[in-house]
Amino acid sequence: MKTMTTTTSRIPGLHKMSPEERLQKVVEVTGLSEDVVRHLGNTGNLDSATADSMIENVIGTMNIPLGVATNMLVDGHDVLVPMATEESSVVAAVCNAARQCRSTGGFKTGMSNSHMIAQVQLLGVPNPEFARLQILEHKSDVQLICDETDPVLLKHGGGFRDMEVRVLKGRTGPMVVTHLIVDTRDAMGANAVNSMAEAVAPHIAKWTGGKTYLRILSNLADRRLARARATWALDEIGGAEVRDGILAAYDFADIDPYRAATHNKGIMNGVSAVVLATGNDCRAVEAGAHAYAARTGQYSSLTRWETDADGNLTGTIEMPLAVGLIGGATRSHPTARIALDIMNITTAERLACTIAAVGLAQNFAALKALATTGIQKGHMALHAKNIAVMAGAVGAEIEKVADALVKLGKVRVDVAEEILNEVRQ
Ligand code: NAD
Repeated sequence: MKTMTTTTSRIPGLHKMSPEERLQKVVEVTGLSEDVVRHLGNTGNLDSATADSMIENVIGTMNIPLGVATNMLVDGHDVLVPMATEESSVVAAVCNAARQCRSTGGFKTGMSNSHMIAQVQLLGVPNPEFARLQILEHKSDVQLICDETDPVLLKHGGGFRDMEVRVLKGRTGPMVVTHLIVDTRDAMGANAVNSMAEAVAPHIAKWTGGKTYLRILSNLADRRLARARATWALDEIGGAEVRDGILAAYDFADIDPYRAATHNKGIMNGVSAVVLATGNDCRAVEAGAHAYAARTGQYSSLTRWETDADGNLTGTIEMPLAVGLIGGATRSHPTARIALDIMNITTAERLACTIAAVGLAQNFAALKALATTGIQKGHMALHAKNIAVMAGAVGAEIEKVADALVKLGKVRVDVAEEILNEVRQ
């Protein structure tokens, strides 16, 4: 497709153009062919006007496969879970893990509540402890200001719940940080609490004589914790040796951040795929998860694995899950709305609980694979299709080349190219 090199990244007025005009402009300055216009001009199931209303400088859309995880039994209800991911084996892992805990009742879930925290940073007070109490004395004023900022949230049963004020030692002096604790109900709540923090900040400055700076939510949503637990019977998972391997793998993640990062990345494979499929903010959930995993000062596992009185394997997960059904792309992206319909989910709490169950399932599948055959066997079977495509296979060739790669046990592009040549001859 490439015929020339990029000439400039200065394109004045690009933001004022329509997506179609922008695309034409980008093709022009990069010297790419008209094929690119045809490719990016097809925006799939997110029309160009909607995409243009979501972010800046839109020139197209990036389609990611949407799969559906089967076998999920959550709090006694069967639920089909849509997952948007580019990584092979993620959906299959959830299906397998969920199947293996159906005989013991599937996943039991729960949630702390749906409270978000907004922070207001105050500097320039010589007596920070004194200022702290001055702020706390105004709790009823703070409540009034917050609730007046978002009457719609109030109507839906949300609003200000509590506040706390912390004194931190900054390098430039003491800092007084006010936390507004707000129930955001079925919204993720970032915009909701940010507006409240901005409304309260001038009052905090006035009450204390200091100067307020940052006014924004914390993504460490530790008052919005979703929990899930499940039991995997020994005969379902292949016996005590497999269980002990999983326990040893968990032990490793619990004590070693190098291992914990990959362990939690596996959990987020499941979590982020559902977060993305429902139009929620993956970065917010990822940031919250990793900050929570490091809350003791040592980065560690988001899951816990144990043995019950009968020797079965039990797993639990607890993590911040600030997801909503209202706001952001959850409403504007048509596929996100359909994803919620597939799950038959009508509250943000149910969505968070289901996502926690998916995270636990994903972790079980990864630990079991690692503790037994190794991760590559399952991975490579699915990855073979990607390799076949990289080698140039199209249509029915993809399956033929991928099958041959797996049979040979050599899932490599050079081998795929050789096989493709043979297939074509
Ligand atoms: P929003 O402001 O679009 O919608 C929330 C509002 O919807 C509420 O404030 C309320 O007025 C109204 N509402 C209607 N029905 C409701 C119900 N049943 N429950 C609760 N509220 C209801 O969205 P938001 O959830 O406040 O913000 C989410 C967006 O903010 C995401 O797109 C996210 O990416 C973005 N964001 C994130 C961060 C961050 O994570 N650091 C920062 C800024 C913005």
